[in-house]
Amino acid sequence: LNPPFYRETRAEVSLDAVARNTKLFCTKIAESCRLMAVVKANGYGHGAVETAKTALSAGAEALGVAILEEALELREAGLDCPILVLGSTPSAAIPLALRHRIALTVYTEESVRAIIAEAERAKSTAVLHLKLDTGMSRLGVTSKSDALRLARLALSSDRVRLEGMFTHFADADNPDPAYTERQFRTFLDWTGHLSGHGIDIPVKHCCNSAATVRYPDMHLDMVRVGVALYGLPPVTGAEDDYPLRQAMQLKTRITDVRRLAAGQSVGYGRTFTAGREMTAATIPIGYADGWSRRLSNNGSALVGGVRVPIVGRVCMDQTILDVSALPDAGIGDEVVLFGGTPGVPERYIPIGEVADKLDTIHYEVVCMLGRRVPRVYA
Ligand code: PLP
Repeated sequence: LNPPFYRETRAEVSLDAVARNTKLFCTKIAESCRLMAVVKANGYGHGAVETAKTALSAGAEALGVAILEEALELREAGLDCPILVLGSTPSAAIPLALRHRIALTVYTEESVRAIIAEAERAKSTAVLHLKLDTGMSRLGVTSKSDALRLARLALSSDRVRLEGMFTHFADADNPDPAYTERQFRTFLDWTGHLSGHGIDIPVKHCCNSAATVRYPDMHLDMVRVGVALYGLPPVTGAEDDYPLRQAMQLKTRITDVRRLAAGQSVGYGRTFTAGREMTAATIPIGYADGWSRRLSNNGSALVGGVRVPIVGRVCMDQTILDVSALPDAGIGDEVVLFGGTPGVPERYIPIGEVADKLDTIHYEVVCMLGRRVPRVYA
């Protein structure tokens, strides 16, 4: 049927903002350092293909994803650049990864052996990055001797190009640098151990957005920047040096308006009761869209640039606002759930504000947005 696009609820993504944020990072890293744009989780909810294309034309040289499926989506869209799967890849997926020249993260002997076997069988080349766990306790080898053993195993086949070696910081956004510095020293120690044994791996990398901003000395050969490319601040207090632009705005339009008498309740469970006569407006967005139910009687929105509160429970598909402050509010009026007019605080809702209300981080707010919310590019 391929229905046309009717929904008023949409996430507007400014690719110009993504391009500007990418270029800003390019100006902050050395000429010799590559920028990997991390576009996992559908580009942190912004649309992987569109944001990847934008970041690449703005100066990024590689893409990072979490799982092979995400890499294949990018190849399918015609992107020919280096792509690294930052997470684990099951053995069954190795043939497809090699066929599509997707670089893989390795940290176990079994997976390196399986990759060598497949590369030799298919007469192709596997590009690998060795993951070192220096303090995140999540993924990677946990000692320099294991790193050396695995690197030697990988290099035992001329079908393998051991291109990279990397680690991930657990605490890069902490104002106290001690833990990150310790992880960095460990990383240098382990990579140095390999060099001491004649193994020099060209692309060493450890910085995410926060570390890229805070620790220029740790950039090494590549930085892996995700959240900041979407204009979400990775640390507080860096706004002057890193004036990022939030790329996404979440918008909808009023679908119904009603007057409520004092004492009348709103929504499921009757968690809000009008204390006086008021005007309520309904908007077509709910928790099935990733607009969390925890915003019930909690969040706010902008109608005509004026902040109005959410009243009652957020439903699966709808939310109700108190628009008493806007006597002329009517069906079809635009509502901004985050975004608005940048630089005018009373007319702007940063994604971080929604995250604070949900007791989470801005990463989760954008990743939570459902499939049902069309991404519209400007
Ligand atoms: N590198 C790895 C291994 C990651 O898992 C992530 C995301 O969590 C990133 C880089 C990008 O991090 P950020 O979005 O904080 O820049």
